[in-house]
Amino acid sequence: MKGKPSAVAREPDRAEAFRAYIAQQGLRGTRQRMAVYEAARGLAGHYTADELLRKARQIDDTVSRATVYRTLPLLVGCGAVREVDVGRDHTYYLTESGGASFRAQLICERCETIIPVEAPFMEWYGKAVAAKHGMRPVSQRLQVNAICADCQKREARA
Ligand SMILES: [Zn+2]
Repeated sequence: MKGKPSAVAREPDRAEAFRAYIAQQGLRGTRQRMAVYEAARGLAGHYTADELLRKARQIDDTVSRATVYRTLPLLVGCGAVREVDVGRDHTYYLTESGGASFRAQLICERCETIIPVEAPFMEWYGKAVAAKHGMRPVSQRLQVNAICADCQKREARA
């Protein structure tokens, strides 16, 4: 099982929050949409829409590709999932852990390897800078586009 007991206890609340968000959009929390939500919660690290579809079908085999593509913006909109744009023709997604600590990501521009890193210092910095302007931070992110060690080696050989 995953995480601390308290995190597990909060899980139904999160699903309820997602259902409430869907209702706010004038939509119904159908079995299929909730299966996509569950699938996203069950995925660790970065994934594509197709990987989410595969996972969702393990939960409910009536989930269609269209449902996944229509549900993803809802997941992103309510903050359950983050969209990671690596500037390619496909988008990656990352399920938010709900943890407060700031995360940064390093993305290799060549092979699209994504390395999430904890960056508590950045969180502090963002808060300090915002406070200076009388602002309350809502979210912040740092994305570093880079070239990974493997790709550097490959290019050095070429
Ligand atoms: Zn690379």
